[in-house]
Amino acid sequence: MIFCPLYSGSSGNSTFLASDNTKILVDAGLSGKNIETALLKIGFNPNEIDAILVTHEHTDHIKGVGVLSRKYNIPIYANALTWQCMLKYIGKIKEHNIKVLYNNHISIKDMDITSFSTSHDAVDPYGYAIDCKNKRACVATDLGFISDEIKYILKDSDIILLESNHDVEMLKFGPYPYDLKRRILSKIGHLSNDDCGKAILNIINNKFKKIILGHLSKTNNYPELAYQTVINTLIEAGVKLNMDVTISMARRDKPSNYIKFK
Ligand SMILES: [Zn+2]
Ligand SMILES: [Zn+2]
Repeated sequence: MIFCPLYSGSSGNSTFLASDNTKILVDAGLSGKNIETALLKIGFNPNEIDAILVTHEHTDHIKGVGVLSRKYNIPIYANALTWQCMLKYIGKIKEHNIKVLYNNHISIKDMDITSFSTSHDAVDPYGYAIDCKNKRACVATDLGFISDEIKYILKDSDIILLESNHDVEMLKFGPYPYDLKRRILSKIGHLSNDDCGKAILNIINNKFKKIILGHLSKTNNYPELAYQTVINTLIEAGVKLNMDVTISMARRDKPSNYIKFK
């Protein structure tokens, strides 16, 4: 399987996954053009995409969903409440491309997909775990905290895009209005760098994991700080980097180095 965050951060999110015969996007939260550019840059054609899975209806996750579906005839998968909410933002979608998730497991060709609920201020936000040939990749961003269910799913994953949204001090003393600060820090907001480090400690087991930190706030974080905070938490707890886990960063405005694993 190939796993590549095309864009990750508060300004737009999209993650590309490919197996031998299946190619999907989790979210398409930038313009269709931006997503096309990113796919071509990593050597894939947008017309090869078999499906777009939507995590939730926030603009940074759905901006390009409608355009791409119309242009390349791509089915869009989301739960019923998310569909209800996002339809007015993504424009007209062909009926055969409206795929409503009624349960937590679906298959798209050789990929088995499990959806799980996240704690975030959207109508019915989801994360996704994608299984293919005994490997599991997981997209877990936009979460106020990590539930036991998510912990369980992450423990079982080989590669994870995990949220490291903000530095708590930068957020507290930064320019955001009080209510927004409160929302971000709440259980339905976003994971801070500290939360992210602690979450990783909770999911480390005998399964080696590649973890990519993503969905960084542009205002309240920067990549070196997120990386260093997480690494420090892990080292202090005695984690052996590159033996138990590797940590890398997802890029905000271009495709990250893609990770191939089998
Ligand atoms: Zn969101
Ligand atoms: Zn988001």
